[in-house]
Amino acid sequence: MDSDIDRILYDHDRILGRVRELGRDIAAHYADLEAPLTLVPILSGSIIFVADLIRELPLKMRIAMLQLSSYPGTATSPAQDPATLIELTGPVSGRHVLIVDDILDTGNTLRRVRRMLLDRGAASLRTAVLLRKPNKAPTDVPVDFVGFDVEDLFVVGYGLDYNDLYRNYPHIGVLRPELMP
Ligand code: 5GP
Ligand code: MG
Repeated sequence: MDSDIDRILYDHDRILGRVRELGRDIAAHYADLEAPLTLVPILSGSIIFVADLIRELPLKMRIAMLQLSSYPGTATSPAQDPATLIELTGPVSGRHVLIVDDILDTGNTLRRVRRMLLDRGAASLRTAVLLRKPNKAPTDVPVDFVGFDVEDLFVVGYGLDYNDLYRNYPHIGVLRPELMP
């Protein structure tokens, strides 16, 4: 796997340090919340991020997951309107919700998820993303907690995949170009 990576952008220790800071920011934001928080991780890219993040959150919390498809097959550019593959696994009505996603690119995914959660009666809605591609980030999709602003490159590792591979690569890096069609 290592030999498929062209360049590491964020190594594992740096990611963990930043996730710890995000945990502190999020915990401070919700410090006065008496009800449990509901995290909505968007599968599958956010699995590692959310697993590390929740252990940095000393709050009462629940998880309701959901899966959308954004890249058809081996494509590396997103579909316009991502389809729901796994329905939300828990209730959000009347609950304080924090969406957790791996990366904000065009914003199509988060725009759609935000609308769905608000339609279902979330009491409040915030969003945490590990990575954001700043050049393309749309202004109508607010994100409240951002790990890193990343270059506009296709990245893998720490949950992010190419063709469902490399999610277990511990760092975030860029694949060798010849591996992507
Ligand atoms: P958006 O809907 O904002 O365009 O894209 C969001 C989703 O596309 C992310 O949750 C992620 O699954 C995928 N995505 C966007 N950029 C990248 C990238 O550089 N690498 C990988 N592996 N996935 C990405
Ligand atoms: Mg995703």
